[in-house]
Amino acid sequence: MSEPNRNEQNNERPAAEREKNRDRGEQNARNAQNPQNAQNAQNAQNARQGQNAQGGNRKNQKNRDRERSRENREKDRERDRERREKENRKKQPPKLQPHPNAGNANKKKAQKGNRADDGRKDTYVYVLDGNVYINLTNKCSNACHFCVRNERASYFGNYLWLRNGDPTPEKVIAALNALDLSAYREVVFCGFGEPTYRMAEMSAVADYVHERGLSTRLNTNGQGSLINKRDIVPELKGKIDKINISLNAASAEKYQPICRSQFGEAGYTGMLDFARECRRAEIECWFSVVDVIGEDEVAACRRVAEMIGIPLRVRAYISES
Ligand code: SF4
Repeated sequence: MSEPNRNEQNNERPAAEREKNRDRGEQNARNAQNPQNAQNAQNAQNARQGQNAQGGNRKNQKNRDRERSRENREKDRERDRERREKENRKKQPPKLQPHPNAGNANKKKAQKGNRADDGRKDTYVYVLDGNVYINLTNKCSNACHFCVRNERASYFGNYLWLRNGDPTPEKVIAALNALDLSAYREVVFCGFGEPTYRMAEMSAVADYVHERGLSTRLNTNGQGSLINKRDIVPELKGKIDKINISLNAASAEKYQPICRSQFGEAGYTGMLDFARECRRAEIECWFSVVDVIGEDEVAACRRVAEMIGIPLRVRAYISES
């Protein structure tokens, strides 16, 4: 048998392939005409597009998550910083500055009157506007420009500068008993100084006042915890029924030039901390300001009071004595 001619073989193969291709082309044309196949192709195309869109959404979501966690981290850092600042203020009471009243000409003049050798006795207890007031000390961590003791020796006829030292509780109680206490409802710790310098004495007198059926109030500059280097609010709870905290200004920057705290601007922030603690301890308390600071500043003080969560009372400036 002879071998097939190579030329014949080559001619036969392309013919077979052409046949196959023609069949495939016809099949494709039929497929394209078939609506089900067209739908399948469209679905496949849509799926590919959907996958691409999903990929884009996932990317956007990731970016949003990243942004959100960055904002959360910043907020956490801010909260940490505020907490650390508050703790530091508590841990390290600020260095005392020289008292601004040293060398104050007005105060020297007033003190001259206070120290005049006229034989009068120190005033521990006095009556004003139907209330009983207790004068425990001359000491104060502030040197307010508007303080009456800078300007005059007497307050509504009461000579409050203590020339013979701070009184013991026994001396105060003896002075209280000289009054008909049944005519009064409230005893107020408020004099020519800051009463929280005398925590133990104030506490003993407050107990006596309660025994006699009267309520107690403390008028304070709010720096008692700085003065005593401890949180005094738990000691006040149950002894003092109401606390009036002098706010005087809406910020530390404004407070310090007016009140000249020995603690510097920390005197103001310490006062706000004290107010917060009083509120937490559920002692009835409020801020007070004098109306001479002007309407805008009173409105700003009101916002501070709202932030701390206690009321603000605006009182008229007392110009006569
Ligand atoms: S806090 Fe009161 S007592 Fe002290 S300086 Fe100011 S007004 Fe005077």
